[in-house]
Amino acid sequence: MTRKLLIWGAVLILIASSFLLLPNYALKRVACAFPRVRSVDTIVIQPFCGMPTSEVTFLYNTLQKSYDQVKLNAEIPLPASAYYAPRNRYKADSLIAFLARRSVGNTIIVGLAYQDISTSKGNITDWGVMGLGYQPGRASVVSLHRLHRNNLTSQLYKVVIHELGHNFGIPHCTSTACYMRDAEGQNHFDEENHFCPACMNLMKCNGWK
Ligand SMILES: [Zn+2]
Ligand SMILES: [Zn+2]
Repeated sequence: MTRKLLIWGAVLILIASSFLLLPNYALKRVACAFPRVRSVDTIVIQPFCGMPTSEVTFLYNTLQKSYDQVKLNAEIPLPASAYYAPRNRYKADSLIAFLARRSVGNTIIVGLAYQDISTSKGNITDWGVMGLGYQPGRASVVSLHRLHRNNLTSQLYKVVIHELGHNFGIPHCTSTACYMRDAEGQNHFDEENHFCPACMNLMKCNGWK
């Protein structure tokens, strides 16, 4: 009799624990179903001529702590076709299209420019930006031009991971301290210090550590 009770007790505990585990499992499955850039396994850093080597090296070393495969390409000139003479800057839309064509295999390619970059926004045909990336997609570009010089290294890293988030398909986030916050024409990067739990979960679905 005692033995029968013990067996039933064990069965009930097993059933109860499976119910406890199920919500976590289901949550993870739902969260990881969206968004994911399938088959990407390498982040390629592509500096354009003029980028300071120290900033590129720091970024390369730091990204490797959060992503398994990071590759650093030799610098290349900015494509003349992306130059916008009226404002002496480069069209970010053209740059990411140029970079996407160089994204071979399972890679996302992040261009780094010292020069100013811009895109069109609503009725404004030429709007200066810190970065631009496909959402989702295989290419993004980041410029040093609008970043705070007293905190350049940290700001560069934050813009790059923001654009990588877009490449992974992650939209802007309402949390003011989250790296996925919408810049809305300002530089808030010193107020951002983490991926909020929801954005971090989506980053992890895409291989971020
Ligand atoms: Zn953004
Ligand atoms: Zn967030």
